[in-house]
Amino acid sequence: MNTKFITLDTENPDPSVLKEAGEIIKRGGLVAFPTETVYGLGGDALNPESSKKIYAAKGRPSDNPLIVHIWRLEDLPVVAREIPDIAYKLAAEYWPGPLTMIFRKSDAIPFETTGGLDTVAVRFPDNKIALGFIKEAGGFVAAPSANLSGKPSPTLSKYVKEDMDGRIEMILDGGQVGIGLESTIIDLTSEVPTILRPGFITREMLLKLLNEVDVDKTILDGNSKAAPKAPGMKYRHYAPKGDLTVIEGETSKVISYINEKTKEAVKDGKKVCVICTDETEDAFAAKIKKSVGSRADEASVGKELYRVLRECDDEDIEVIFSESFDATGFGQAIMNRLLKAAGHHVINVD
Ligand code: AMP
Ligand code: MG
Repeated sequence: MNTKFITLDTENPDPSVLKEAGEIIKRGGLVAFPTETVYGLGGDALNPESSKKIYAAKGRPSDNPLIVHIWRLEDLPVVAREIPDIAYKLAAEYWPGPLTMIFRKSDAIPFETTGGLDTVAVRFPDNKIALGFIKEAGGFVAAPSANLSGKPSPTLSKYVKEDMDGRIEMILDGGQVGIGLESTIIDLTSEVPTILRPGFITREMLLKLLNEVDVDKTILDGNSKAAPKAPGMKYRHYAPKGDLTVIEGETSKVISYINEKTKEAVKDGKKVCVICTDETEDAFAAKIKKSVGSRADEASVGKELYRVLRECDDEDIEVIFSESFDATGFGQAIMNRLLKAAGHHVINVD
């Protein structure tokens, strides 16, 4: 298959391209598109054959449900039923935006889209290309992240191309995405609303509108024996090819530990990279260092993390050491992804 790659103006996307992309979806094809979180791999959410194609293109296990993307709130009851009032409260504050809500699914949504579940994940993204495209596609686009299963989600279109070229009909390029980590997922079907995946919309932000918010225990705990409620969270994810270890502890100790381990790995003939921050970059002895931004600006770390992990693959890095981050606020999402990428391989040097 020849994959069309089209660059769009993020503020004023060409309507004829959005229409062409929408037609592909209506015919049962697949199109990758930017959102404010990461690039999505879209198909018609109401068409079981399209969902099957998404799983095939990604090499994704078919028990891992897709998120249904809508372009206007009034379409929510088409895909979801028993919608609680709190959903509309959350939507008023955070939609369009990086928040996915889980409801009981309507009959319009096939089980192929929900990985066999009776629930459906719904999101209303905040990106003009995404919204225009979803509208032209008929209103309901099922989309996981546009990466091959197991790889870090793409935050730049070149990584979508690397993974999806020849597998899908079209890639809409909207440059580097703004947030860089997948949406927060909140389950509204449980007694107490529960965060199944942390993201840019934090628990504190949700507590402004809800009395209670639980957090799925498996989110940061690598030793938890419980099965995560978002099926996708159980898979090794976001992982670079190299062997990644997260080092936590007091900054100066982290730096000396990483410098020592870098020396050893280089001696063993390994290609090493240190994932660091603007504040610490100069202190590392490694030849290859990649800063994910300033510690003072968590948003920059979220935005750059997957790009840096992908670059490590581009450069065939074999051993990666990363600094650790405070798991509060947006930091919880950052640490959740970093720990998963490291297969929960963490060393505390305090
Ligand atoms: P992705 O967009 O690639 O990050 O994948 C979608 C994520 O949403 C996966 O982690 C899924 O497990 C999760 N998800 C989608 N639908 C549901 C659902 N009905 N219940 C729980 N988690 C879901
Ligand atoms: Mg994904």
